[in-house]
Amino acid sequence: MKIVRTVRELREQVRGARAGGSARVGLVPTMGALHEGHISLVRAAQRDVDFVVMSIFVNPKQFTEASDLDGYPRQEEADAALAESAGVDVIFAPAASELYPEGFATNVHVGGSLTETLEAAGRGPQHFDGVATVVSKLLIAADPDAAYFGQKDAQQLLVVRRMVTDLGLPVEIVSCPTVRDSDGLAKSSRNVRLSDADRARALAIPRALEAAEAALALGETSTAALHARAAAVLSAAGIEPEYVACVDTHALEPVDVVDQPVLLAIAARVGEVRLIDNTLLTLPGAEAQLDPEEK
Ligand code: AMP
Repeated sequence: MKIVRTVRELREQVRGARAGGSARVGLVPTMGALHEGHISLVRAAQRDVDFVVMSIFVNPKQFTEASDLDGYPRQEEADAALAESAGVDVIFAPAASELYPEGFATNVHVGGSLTETLEAAGRGPQHFDGVATVVSKLLIAADPDAAYFGQKDAQQLLVVRRMVTDLGLPVEIVSCPTVRDSDGLAKSSRNVRLSDADRARALAIPRALEAAEAALALGETSTAALHARAAAVLSAAGIEPEYVACVDTHALEPVDVVDQPVLLAIAARVGEVRLIDNTLLTLPGAEAQLDPEEK
């Protein structure tokens, strides 16, 4: 496995892989501090493509709090070992100056409700500009056939899909299911910053999602009622969520009834750590996929 730091070296690697003619290339964008969630994206890529590029870049443009950026875990050696054992072909780990050289003045902005709701409230409207700008740079640099994103960051995934569609970028955006610890907590690089007590309290987040799923399975389709179930579980654990939202999977606009797939999304600060999680609420027999018709 090679680790490259410049776009030029990355392009050489991808060109080399494609030299035989038919090799398909996949990109797995990450911010490092790798865990099984990231590795599941690598596995999904390996099922589809011949050559897997993983980017590791803590993108300053998508952080709106300096303390979150400073405190973000960085562990490149351990990441490289894990990526190599998972069979990643190339890691692209650029310095910030490689992606944002002196004088950088371009911003990729996806407009509309997709970038104005949910995470935009807590993280600021610039958050998704940072995401869209870096992902477009990574896609242009690696020129992959497919790029792999986790459903855990559902809004990010939909924003990236919108951008790729709107710009006509020739890449398939693949959505991968959320990987959880055995107790249900969604894997996240930020989990290492939770104290033991806060980690235990954070379990209320997946339990809140499960409570809504269970109520839906018993026939409750009113999102107000499902919202109330989830909120009650959080409140019993002393968690005051930033949002609990039942939204459609196209524009992320509120919906009243589960008569189509509904994204139930939660963001909450537990101790110092901001966590997000979600589930797709679907009626029995419906396809549980994030916005499948846009694929
Ligand atoms: P991050 O390094 O947190 O920016 O995440 C990089 C990619 O991994 C994003 O597409 C995330 O949605 C995805 N990801 C993060 N956590 C998980 C998880 N628990 N399960 C599946 N994918 C994940």
